[in-house]
Amino acid sequence: MQTHQTMMEAIMAEVHATAYATGRGNLSPGVIKAMQQAPRHEFVPENMRKLAYANEPLPIGHGQTISQPYIVAIMTELLSLKDTDTVLEIGTGCGYQAAVLACLAAQVYTLEVVEELAAEASARLARLGFDNIDVRVADGHEGLPAHAPFDAIIVTAAPEAVPMALTGQLKPGGRMVIPVGTYRYAQSLLLLEKDSAGDIHERDVLPVAFVPMVSSLQRS
Ligand code: SAH
Repeated sequence: MQTHQTMMEAIMAEVHATAYATGRGNLSPGVIKAMQQAPRHEFVPENMRKLAYANEPLPIGHGQTISQPYIVAIMTELLSLKDTDTVLEIGTGCGYQAAVLACLAAQVYTLEVVEELAAEASARLARLGFDNIDVRVADGHEGLPAHAPFDAIIVTAAPEAVPMALTGQLKPGGRMVIPVGTYRYAQSLLLLEKDSAGDIHERDVLPVAFVPMVSSLQRS
């Protein structure tokens, strides 16, 4: 039987096993607490509840998935969030990653291109009492200029290249984690850091498999 506790153990084991690539052999206390707090069973469809605390991605409808808990944890870890930070997420999906971010940061803006998913996530997050998450229906390629710049940006769908608008909306000293690649099973998770002079430093962290980031044109 998978429980929140066994999920945490599986995440920690994978964090240790991938430390050579990520540079993080452990999760910080804040990230551990956020992963312990976020009720993943509330974010998966009813018929998947038994699997909610397995360390696996799961289908959530509309051809989309809820990310694997380890991936949520390590991407969050790489952002090194502070409780005063404003974060932009691209790809709300069910809202689980946004909930984890909201436990650590001051404000989370999250963009989703599928209207039904955005509406469901927004209602779910409000019902669970998250009052620092703003879900918007928008194409993530453009970012959210009205609320930029951001301390951190996390992208949970894979574009073919890092969208220019997103690097532009990162604060100096800010960080972005983003999966990039043309094929679903040949993507790299990149960590981008913008230094105080505005220059971007990029590191290839891990091979990952995210759903593709679509453009709004593809959907109409
Ligand atoms: N963050 C989610 C996982 C999301 S899966 C979690 O916590 O589990 C990726 C999501 O990105 C999907 O819901 C998909 O509809 C959305 N997406 C794809 N292309 C997008 C785009 N251009 N802009 C915004 N969202 C997009």
